[in-house]
Amino acid sequence: KVRVRFAPSPTGGLHLGGVRTALFNYLYARHHGGEFVLRIEDTDQTRFVPGAEEYINECLEWCGLTPDETPNKPGEYGPYRQSERKASYRQYAEQLVNDGFAYYAFDTAEELDARRKEEPNFRYSHENRLQLRNSLSLTKEETTKLLTDGHPHTIRIKMPLEDTVSFEDMIRGRVAFETSLIDDKVLLKADGMPTYHLAVVVDDKAMEISHVFRGEEWLPSAPVHILLWEYLGWKDKMPYWAHLPLILKPDGNGKLSKRDGDRLGFPVYAMSWTDPKSGDVTKGFREMGFLPEAFINMLAVLGWNDGTEQEIFSIEELISKFSVDRVSKAGAKFDFEKAKWFNHEWIKKTDNTEILPQIEGVLNQHEVTSRPSDYVLKVLALVKERMTFVEDFWEQASFFFTIPDIYDVDAVKPKWNENKTAFFQNIAAEFETMQEWTAISLEPFFKNKVADSGMKIGELMMPFRIMLVGRKFGPDVFQIAERLGKDEVIKRIEKALP
Ligand code: GLU
Repeated sequence: KVRVRFAPSPTGGLHLGGVRTALFNYLYARHHGGEFVLRIEDTDQTRFVPGAEEYINECLEWCGLTPDETPNKPGEYGPYRQSERKASYRQYAEQLVNDGFAYYAFDTAEELDARRKEEPNFRYSHENRLQLRNSLSLTKEETTKLLTDGHPHTIRIKMPLEDTVSFEDMIRGRVAFETSLIDDKVLLKADGMPTYHLAVVVDDKAMEISHVFRGEEWLPSAPVHILLWEYLGWKDKMPYWAHLPLILKPDGNGKLSKRDGDRLGFPVYAMSWTDPKSGDVTKGFREMGFLPEAFINMLAVLGWNDGTEQEIFSIEELISKFSVDRVSKAGAKFDFEKAKWFNHEWIKKTDNTEILPQIEGVLNQHEVTSRPSDYVLKVLALVKERMTFVEDFWEQASFFFTIPDIYDVDAVKPKWNENKTAFFQNIAAEFETMQEWTAISLEPFFKNKVADSGMKIGELMMPFRIMLVGRKFGPDVFQIAERLGKDEVIKRIEKALP
């Protein structure tokens, strides 16, 4: 049975890469009819940030990536917060010591810091573990004494001297690591909390996780995890591994980091994040005006494709088409212009009635209230093609809701004359008598009147537009006139005439 997990540490806003990890987990689970679990990895209490867990929940919900089991909606494998599983870890760390795969280390943080100062490349490893203060270098009696005296200690993994840990990554194929290059990672900290390395293995086992999808930055930790699966005697239950390619800066130069957003002028968080200490707000894709469908679509194709040229995918299509074989090994460059293109396409694609509430929100912000929905929908149909964000509706369509008070006079004034004034006075009067008020009937009507006047169409179309819109801008002028309605058009002509 497929069981996957998204295991974020609640330390702040969720970065693009984090949401993509959640997405690929979700797609894999749904594709295989499996389960998608949210586990909160909060064992590092020094990094605990209030509000971060709520933010993660809200973010997954906004994206539509609803987990089957979470801390708030536990299944049979709880608790779903590592801090609440604290009691379960020590026994495994001790089992590893007893079986000779790990050891007690009594060096204090200060001692190790001092050592690192002397030797910048210092690593706690096979090279020097016998010179340090631990149960490998001390006698059995000395160790027992320190333990019974309650001397603070950690438990470290004893990395094998000369071994190769290799495994089949679902994305990168065969991967191998020399154990001699890896230091003796801490498994259990002095405060009794497990480190990520121990907790991730114990929990993936306890929660019966079948496949691990996580960022490539965890690849160097994989050999430690694999050894732990083996040392704990669980090798036959070990999940399959899939390390997802990095998301790179737009120029391809390194990983896109949390700080890049401010520098490069686009968001890197899914939703805005307010730092609880400083109150600083980092803007997210949601607040920038992205539709969740577009955000998810854009993330899915960062490192995955279906083997065709198709770029626009609904979540249903992603679920049915997702396959690990088509996830690339190479990092994926993030392109904000492309992200905007996805949003534009999704705005075009989404049913007008579905985005109506958001459009009404935009109108309210501009103090336009009580507009009949069918009027708003008709306007939306006309300007949708021109919108990248929902907010763009105002820029594209404000003139449908408020009469212009500024006119682009320069565009008409130099060539204005009495004939033109007369033309518009007449046509305003004749509009009154028109029975059918549609773009289709207005266009020939207007053109015939122009022909009768002896002037050229080009001389009168632009002024007509400026009277209705205020500027040289907007969709087809007869469409605009149809939507505005007869009375409003007449009113605008009269207001604009000199
Ligand atoms: N807690 C880790 C993180 O914050 C999870 C890594 C993993 O999925 O194993 O990314």
